[in-house]
Amino acid sequence: MIWNENKECMSREDMRALQGKRLHKIVTYVYHNVPFYRKKLQERDIRPDDIQSIDDIVRLPFTTKQDLRDNYPFGLQAAPQSEIVRIHASSGTTGNPTIVGYTRKDIGVWSECMSRCLTAYGVSRNDTFSVAYGYGLFTGGLGAHYGVENIGAAVLPASIGNTEKHLHLIRDLGVSGIACTPSYALYLAETMKRMGITKEQIRLRVGAFGAEPWTEEMRREIEDKLGLKAYNLYGLSEIMGPCVSYECPRQQGSHINEDHFFPEIVDPETLEPVDAGTVGELVFTTLTKEGMPILRYRTRDLCSILPGTCSCGRTSLRMGHIMGRTDDMLIIRGINVFPSQVESVVLSMKEFAPRYLLVVDRIGNLDTLQVQVELRQEYFDENFDTIATFQELEKRLADRLKSVLSLTAKVNLKSPGTLARSLGKDSHVIDHRKQY
Ligand code: ADP
Ligand code: ZN
Repeated sequence: MIWNENKECMSREDMRALQGKRLHKIVTYVYHNVPFYRKKLQERDIRPDDIQSIDDIVRLPFTTKQDLRDNYPFGLQAAPQSEIVRIHASSGTTGNPTIVGYTRKDIGVWSECMSRCLTAYGVSRNDTFSVAYGYGLFTGGLGAHYGVENIGAAVLPASIGNTEKHLHLIRDLGVSGIACTPSYALYLAETMKRMGITKEQIRLRVGAFGAEPWTEEMRREIEDKLGLKAYNLYGLSEIMGPCVSYECPRQQGSHINEDHFFPEIVDPETLEPVDAGTVGELVFTTLTKEGMPILRYRTRDLCSILPGTCSCGRTSLRMGHIMGRTDDMLIIRGINVFPSQVESVVLSMKEFAPRYLLVVDRIGNLDTLQVQVELRQEYFDENFDTIATFQELEKRLADRLKSVLSLTAKVNLKSPGTLARSLGKDSHVIDHRKQY
């Protein structure tokens, strides 16, 4: 099923024309309403009428997280305060929160885009859908909530925490869909097991997971434990919230709601566009937002735009998995390391639970990487008395990590259930070098 065939299946030509028209309008709007943008455009000698087609976007200035911080709290807001009906603050994974105001129309666009995502996952008005992203300042909870209501499904605003009660409701109400972080999905699975609820006793069919990077291995793990089909949901508060892109049943990349959020991939160093299919930094321009429109926002997320078209019938561009963020890429002894690489290796080995932590330090002048990883309960129970088996396993993991990362890591096996659980976003990294 497709929620808005008109937009999701538009011809490429019509889409480019629509984007061009909207870009012109948004540039005109920020020029007149946001001094920050007016100044930046004037410095480049650009007047709104110079921007007529979507190809002109490369002439526009980039916007960074730092710009948002420098203009805290309302400096980039374009609509008058009286038009703002909602304010969110980003979760501040990597610094102070940023404030985003939405007009009534923005909330409508958000619900529309979120409805497209849910429909692609196969959710309909016949479903009962639990939203287990945090409600509150974080955009995840309310963002998903409005989408569920908009398609007419029954929303269970579970939020995070209260996990046992939530699981009882999932079982007793026959909840068929859920949205949460992949980390929380695993936590739900663990709690379920502890409570003695089996996946046969619940009716979850669809999961919308996002807000943090996750791998194919993690997808399989979650699908297996919760007995559902797991879909990717991507978004960020600066652009809107969850709804920016979504997987269709083909699950070959995530379709971008391009009529509202125009994507570019640039080289994070030179800021030049990269070729289709090449990984670079994802940049978005909001084409219709009124509250806080944003031009060429550098997301710091690394991914590629997939070439070719999708067989699902949607014509919108698809982005690949987020490989990591430029700011969670670790540079260890000069080598670039993403936590997601470690996740793939760890989960490709059946002995390990999907729980791991990278601990980076500097001893003398040398960077060190320690990978802590939890053993699966069953494996741990079977091999409890044989230290030699654990030593062999440690070595096997270290060897695999070395071949993938080109870096020697010290492996530290942990007993089941001993690494900290995160209910929201999980960072998987402790970098002690930051103190120096
Ligand atoms: P913060 O920057 O404070 O974390 P947000 O709460 O808006 O702010 O989080 C948005 C970020 O979360 C994205 O830029 C991206 O790094 C990450 N993210 C969101 N959805 C996904 C997803 N499906 N896959 C990978 N990363 C995601
Ligand atoms: Zn598709």
